[in-house]
Amino acid sequence: MTIGVWILGDQLWLEESALQSCSKINSLPVILIESLSHIQERPYHQQKLVLVWSAMRHFAQELREKGYHVTYAIADDFITPLRTWIEEEKITELRVMTPNDQTFSQKISSLELPCKISLIPNNHFLWSREEFQNWAKGRKRLLMEDFYRVGRRKFHILMAGDKPVGGEWNFDKENRKPPKKNLQTPPAMWFTPDKITLEVMEKVKHLSVPTYGNCDNFLWGVNRTQALEVLNWFIDYRLADFGAYQDAMVTGEKTMWHSLISPYLNLGLLQPLEVIQAAENAHYSRKLHLNSVEGFIRQVLGWREYMHGIYHYLGADYGKKNYFQHTQALPNFFWNSQTQMNCLHQIFTQIADTGYAHHIQRLMVLSNFALIAGLSPQAVENWFHAVFIDGYDWVMQTNVIGMGLFADGGILASKPYAASANYINKMSDYCQGCVYNPKERVGEKACPFNFFYWHFLERHRDKLQTQGRMSFILKNLDKMSQEELSAIHQQVDNWYSQEIQEKID
Ligand code: FAD
Ligand code: SF4
Repeated sequence: MTIGVWILGDQLWLEESALQSCSKINSLPVILIESLSHIQERPYHQQKLVLVWSAMRHFAQELREKGYHVTYAIADDFITPLRTWIEEEKITELRVMTPNDQTFSQKISSLELPCKISLIPNNHFLWSREEFQNWAKGRKRLLMEDFYRVGRRKFHILMAGDKPVGGEWNFDKENRKPPKKNLQTPPAMWFTPDKITLEVMEKVKHLSVPTYGNCDNFLWGVNRTQALEVLNWFIDYRLADFGAYQDAMVTGEKTMWHSLISPYLNLGLLQPLEVIQAAENAHYSRKLHLNSVEGFIRQVLGWREYMHGIYHYLGADYGKKNYFQHTQALPNFFWNSQTQMNCLHQIFTQIADTGYAHHIQRLMVLSNFALIAGLSPQAVENWFHAVFIDGYDWVMQTNVIGMGLFADGGILASKPYAASANYINKMSDYCQGCVYNPKERVGEKACPFNFFYWHFLERHRDKLQTQGRMSFILKNLDKMSQEELSAIHQQVDNWYSQEIQEKID
């Protein structure tokens, strides 16, 4: 019997379960496949293609140095190189770690190959799918906060016996400050592309399939050593102030105090427990404040694990949900960044250059706008998937459909993250450079976040009324005059007729 291991592009670490399941390393046949068919289903950001392919090529090199017998195939599809390799290496059992994305698992199971295919349980997350299921089943509510506390106890993170260190589970009241004038943000850790990355950049620039953004300024790390440098840099220079300005947005400051580790975590170049423990150690050894340390750990031990668990728990139909029945197509400016709305323009431009935006830019500007403007959740999810460097089904569907757009009707969030220009004006400096006025709801200078916000509340009043946390806001809607509501309707209609050409069924 000859076992061969197929490693997918987001399974790039030596302890991944399919490799671990084999007793020998020396001369074990391993294949990695750079496939073009995979990137024809939707456009991808050029920097994501460079990141994934360069990281795969670097990982192939690392495997060879460890003694594995590596085949690196560049092909149109997966099946042709797999068949050739199976035949040449006389493989009788193909082992693959179960992919994180459900559709890809189905694709692998249905491949017609001349050998047995074994899907080995995925070990990319702290919680296995079964463990999450056991936590979730039978619960009335699937609150992240409940899940997170169980996780703190389960992995003994920031715990003093059975109690949370510092006496609280959450220190958010000390966090989420608006940006001060002249904030001094720490530099981010970026890298000069090496020979392998430069070769991939050339390939990506000359692809004949449609792509998004550009890779001229590609500065991401592409191997485990670099990913660890980014983690250590974050712990040394950014973590201390992570909490305070976690939600702040400043023109030209692309990364603030954020860690920039999602691309590496999602590829397997970093592991969640080492990230969490590095932050926890910084609390003990450098006395870093709990508001930042706990706030960061909650993102990785809480949100990341929870989103992954929910994605598998709720199954394939989750991505089709559309609670508000929103059907507007995406305005062109989502693709070409050409809009006078300064907040959107700044963030679109930043994404085209880097593939990155931080959480609040994604949640409170991009998906907030998509939600209140009534854009189709599936079109929005497709866009997010296309333009972000760290996008994968498991993390996009839950974040975009669930958290960002409330299209699941509240499985994941206790109220929609809908906000007017007030929020953006408070948490950023974007409005200072904008042609629109964040204080106006109607008129030539009225900010679209305002008229869409009130229009959203009005048209979904019945559904929103059932969400307890919305009642205060709906009372403000009740105070609005009929004249103002009519003017808002008119403003919304005009906007649609100028910006959107179609609806999506
Ligand atoms: P930091 O702010 O430094 O946070 C640390 C880490 O926590 C992140 O690297 C990430 O691994 C984890 N994390 C925090 N929040 C979440 C979350 N809600 N879900 C999963 N992990 C989380 N994250 C992705 O990895 N890929 C995506 O495609 C993605 N799309 C998103 C779309 C929307 C609409 C929203 C609201 C959030 C999305 N997120 C996504 C979650 C989060 O915004 C990013 O993980 C984060 O911005 C990445 O930057 P960072 O590494 O600097 O994160
Ligand atoms: Fe964005 Fe409105 Fe502020 Fe302009 S005024 S930056 S559109 S929130």
